[in-house]
This record gives sequence, structure tokens and C-alpha cells, in this order.
Amino acid sequence: MDRTGERLGKRGKRKNRPPDRKICAVIPIRRDAGTDTDCYRRVMATLSERLTDNVAGRYYTDSTCIDCDQCRVIAPEIFERNADTGMSYVKKQPITDAEVALAEEAMAACSTESIGNDGQ
Ligand code: SF4
Repeated sequence: MDRTGERLGKRGKRKNRPPDRKICAVIPIRRDAGTDTDCYRRVMATLSERLTDNVAGRYYTDSTCIDCDQCRVIAPEIFERNADTGMSYVKKQPITDAEVALAEEAMAACSTESIGNDGQ
């Protein structure tokens, strides 16, 4: 029990949360990306923040890139680093199935979800 009389779990956390509170398993990144104010998750890069370095095509990166290098390690033929901005951009759109698979893998691996595919 805590001071309010509420039961606590093994780790000292409240067991009986009010029913209107949600426990969200995803990391909140951007409040404007979701519709739920308590639990939101950025799903993909934002077209309005698309970097101008990206070549034309469906895959792109946006300005939330943190230069973690993941995409460039996974798909060095597709992603490049801009030395001035420190952000990755798409230097070549994937064409073959293997390249598309690598672009998708990089998109899934990007922790900030800075890689997008607008389907165009
Ligand atoms: S994986 Fe994402 S955050 Fe990391 S360098 Fe590539 S675009 Fe930027």
C-alpha cells in the first residue's frame, strides 16, 4: 500500500490505475504524429520535413535524422551522409527487389523513423 491506500505491485508501482489511464509500450516521439494524446508514436518520416538532398522518388529522409549511421550501414548504395548537415539522405532510389528490401530494412531500423516511403 502507498500513502493513498492504493495497492502497490512488486516494484512499488501502483497496481490499480484509474481506468482512463493507458499504459503505452511505444516510445513517444512526436505529439503531433498520433491521434491519442497519451499514447502516440511516429510511424514514418514526415513529407513536409523531407530533406532537399533526397533524390526524387518514393523513399526519402526527413529533418529528424540523428546521424546514427544505421541506414548507411544497411544500405550504403541507397543512403548517404551530408557532411554539412550530418543527416542522411537518399542518394539513389532502390530499383531492384534486393534494393527495395534493403531500403525497407533501413526504414524499419531507423530509431527516429526518419525514413519515409510516400509510395510515389
Ligand atoms: S537510420 Fe535514421 S536516424 Fe540513423 S542515419 Fe539513417 S535516417 Fe538518420
